Amino acid sequence: MLLLKNGQDISGNRIEILIDGESIVSIDESIETPTHCEVVDLNQKYVSSGWIDMHTHCYGRLKLYYDDPDLIGYRTGVTTVVDAGTTGADDIGTFYQDIQEKKTRVLAFINVAHQGIKTQDELSDLANIKESMIQESIDRYNDFIIGIKVRMSASVVGNNGIVPLDMAKDITQRIKLPLMVHIGSNPPLLIDILGRLEAGDIVTHIFNGKANGILDKHGNIIPEVLDAHRRGVVFDLGHGRDSFSFKVAQSAFNQCLLCDTISTDIYHDNRVEGPVRNMSTTMNKLLKIGYSPRAILDMVTQKPAEVLGLKRFGTLEVGNVSDITIFDLEELDDVLVDSMGHTETLNYGFKPKAVVVKGAYYDIES
Ligand SMILES: [Zn+2]
Repeated sequence: MLLLKNGQDISGNRIEILIDGESIVSIDESIETPTHCEVVDLNQKYVSSGWIDMHTHCYGRLKLYYDDPDLIGYRTGVTTVVDAGTTGADDIGTFYQDIQEKKTRVLAFINVAHQGIKTQDELSDLANIKESMIQESIDRYNDFIIGIKVRMSASVVGNNGIVPLDMAKDITQRIKLPLMVHIGSNPPLLIDILGRLEAGDIVTHIFNGKANGILDKHGNIIPEVLDAHRRGVVFDLGHGRDSFSFKVAQSAFNQCLLCDTISTDIYHDNRVEGPVRNMSTTMNKLLKIGYSPRAILDMVTQKPAEVLGLKRFGTLEVGNVSDITIFDLEELDDVLVDSMGHTETLNYGFKPKAVVVKGAYYDIES
């Protein structure tokens, strides 16, 4: 058993958490230390349910987008990383084997194209979408595959326009899993994509600064975007190398449109060279824009757990999985860079300090 003592939640309430293996067994203002129990004094640091990054690329064997789940995961305060379609049916089995020894929890959206992102244009040939292969993968790895990914931008779909999305939607009608749709340059047009999406479908790269984005040429949010959000389409940040603009996110915020979930779209190159770096840097960009710390935390805990259907994740409750992130809100001296090269400075923000994941406690080296 492990007792986390002297913590506080984001509202400043005292909190102590007793953990038995992978479960939370008690939460209270003060918990008496049981016998044979490891104790960690949090010294008033904040605790939240473990952070979930629902758009990453962490399959290590492909050349375009790759990383090590632990380097983008528990070492940065993220207890669950979700790979967003790096692998399709061809490689999902190897991916599943590779993650078994990782300390971070790893889940995956399976790419609708069987070869995954071996090249940028996986949907330029519609024959790459094979429903039977997707179904077999899901039957086999049903605790690993939590959704289906389709990338809908010009460089990916070639001459196929909107058709790959129609095929992916058709498949998810039968395979009842969330669909994550990447958006970017047109064709296809964003409004044609959004028009096909329903409650629970996820759009990632929502604040990209490309021409085919959520704002019209006067800077107003396109009505179809607001409609889709009202219908329950989930808006995910998906920062990535090319897909986060301070200007777009700030403009949306000023017009009362916030994203629902915060993800990084992190992989080796944008981690090492920027502009992504890690999850807390991405969270701090929204802090700069004006999102509250509490809203930001929800977007990396409760919301992604809900959207992905992860039961017992996302909230600190007795009986839930004991994945926990321990962090501070502290003085920083950070220059934040978006995908357009625009910089902002921030002198206060999130800094992860430790995690509990799969029942084990780890301090985070700064
Ligand atoms: Zn991605």
